[in-house]
Amino acid sequence: MTIYDPLYRRESRAARVGMTLLRMSQAVKALTASEVAGTGLTPVQAQALLFVRYTKPFLASVGRLAEALGVTHVTAIGVLDGLVRHGLVEKTTSPLDRRVTLLRLTPAGEEVCQRLGRFGHTLEEALAQLDEAELEALERGLGAVVWGLREAGVLQVAEPCRGCVHFQENAAPGSPEPHHCRLIQRYLSEADAKLACPDFTPSRPAV
Ligand code: SF4
Repeated sequence: MTIYDPLYRRESRAARVGMTLLRMSQAVKALTASEVAGTGLTPVQAQALLFVRYTKPFLASVGRLAEALGVTHVTAIGVLDGLVRHGLVEKTTSPLDRRVTLLRLTPAGEEVCQRLGRFGHTLEEALAQLDEAELEALERGLGAVVWGLREAGVLQVAEPCRGCVHFQENAAPGSPEPHHCRLIQRYLSEADAKLACPDFTPSRPAV
């Protein structure tokens, strides 16, 4: 049975919710296309730029970008080439591993990120029509599904350090890099701790 079958959906709440999410994914495509209008970017280029902007600099690699976008390495390179040609992103070699290419924004890229400040807001505004209890239930339910998909290796979920099992807050008090990550065995500045990490592992069950 497919969730595209309307009679089957009448019998299955999970199928109905699944179809709702598929319809929403179509709406999100249309919304994101309208939200990047005037920037000269495609929605996927905007996502790539925002990935570089909000990911810890030492984790903002081509491979991680491919995972975040859910595309192949070759496709991610194609997306990046457009951003590099527009002078928005620069590629550098990781000082720790010469096989890894790291990405960073140029000043022009920073400026475009400012203009993308409302990227995703239309969806937020649509959801804001729900009351607080409905939003909380939706967050809990969808959060569980998203983390399950992450466990299955289908999705990347990146979050800042606080709340991660590997995070040691203020492990070196007074240092410019006071925090520590047990996973990558590295000290972190406060600014880096606030940027997203694809290896974030919640210290309590996800909502
Ligand atoms: S694994 Fe956790 S503590 Fe380490 S950098 Fe990522 S989010 Fe921060």
